[in-house]
Amino acid sequence: MDKDNKVYLDNAATAPIAPNVISVIENYYKDCKVNVHRGMYNSAQLVTDQFELVRSKMAKFINAPEPENIVFTSGATDSLNMVAFGFATKLLNPGDHILTTVLEHHSNFVCWQQVANQTGASLDIVHLDNNGYLDQSELSKLLKNHPKIVAISMMSNVLGTVQPIKSISKTVHDAGGYIVVDAAQAIPHLPVDVQDLDVDFLAFSGHKLYGPTGIGVLYGKLDLLTQMNPVRFGGEMIDNVTETETTFQPAPIKFEAGTPNIAGVLGLGAAIDYLSKQDFDNLISKERRLVCYLFSELEKIPNAKLYGPKEAYAHTSVISFNIANYHPHDVATILDNYGVEVRAGHHCAMPLMQELHTESVVRVSLSFLNTEEDIDQLIFGLKKVADILS
Ligand code: PMP
Repeated sequence: MDKDNKVYLDNAATAPIAPNVISVIENYYKDCKVNVHRGMYNSAQLVTDQFELVRSKMAKFINAPEPENIVFTSGATDSLNMVAFGFATKLLNPGDHILTTVLEHHSNFVCWQQVANQTGASLDIVHLDNNGYLDQSELSKLLKNHPKIVAISMMSNVLGTVQPIKSISKTVHDAGGYIVVDAAQAIPHLPVDVQDLDVDFLAFSGHKLYGPTGIGVLYGKLDLLTQMNPVRFGGEMIDNVTETETTFQPAPIKFEAGTPNIAGVLGLGAAIDYLSKQDFDNLISKERRLVCYLFSELEKIPNAKLYGPKEAYAHTSVISFNIANYHPHDVATILDNYGVEVRAGHHCAMPLMQELHTESVVRVSLSFLNTEEDIDQLIFGLKKVADILS
């Protein structure tokens, strides 16, 4: 997971690739590039078994009851759009409520805005409180509208704050609604147990989980996946096709139209194997120590404004900030010259930028692969930024 001696602090954009992922992908393309689910010959059967084994491993990883709860998608964005347009549009009528938050990544915001426009449902939005956390009293108030859909991220990709999904799910279910969780940012940093959280749908991407790009997961409760309509149609997902009508396979296959991203699924399996062998609690503790160190060092930078809660640990693995009136793009560009890679911009969270009264921020996002020395190099770079821009 080496990056030419660069200090990589943009793990929220994508995480480095886990060992073995590339060799698994290479072996598939070099030695056994066959399609899945179709061939009667031995190698096709073998690759199909490996492909389906990843579904089982993934179910185990998030404690889904059955492999059938796991739909392979192209990423979190794809998964969320599938729920929005395959499930929610069927459910919602004018006057119904969808609840989301101002913290959402565009992929868990724009699709709900579109669904609201299409169905006549209203989109209720929870904002931040004065301490930079999601406003729990506004959340409780809006939950009293009995939203049919609550679409919420487990962890913010800008502030790193974590939402109390388990208690939100209980309230949503008590009021007869469904909860859709965007776990794209949470999954590499928190244990995610879909049965304990009792979520209806959960979406994430493989590339943020040390796997390849172009592959993701939608978890759904089986009865809900059964009710959900496919949004893509074609080969593989059908049961019977006549000139006048088509019947579909059961979930999850009815959602996986066409040749799937076989290499991506096998690569994701290798990433899961790698993570499953780690002491996850230990990795998480390491990230917490690093984020606290990062927070305390950033606080010492003159004129630095750190966004979100004042408590370092609340940021989990992500801290966003600005310094004086320096443009975040300038800060990131200068940091790159000092070997430090961070992201600057709106981070696909424009409503949150509006809430924070800024157009863009510098974001530092950590993984367990980072070290205190990486943070020292960032701070060294930030001092140079001040020399150059002031
Ligand atoms: N939600 C959150 C919280 C994210 O951080 C991201 C990725 N930055 C996404 C959704 C979208 O993931 P992808 O682009 O891989 O579909």
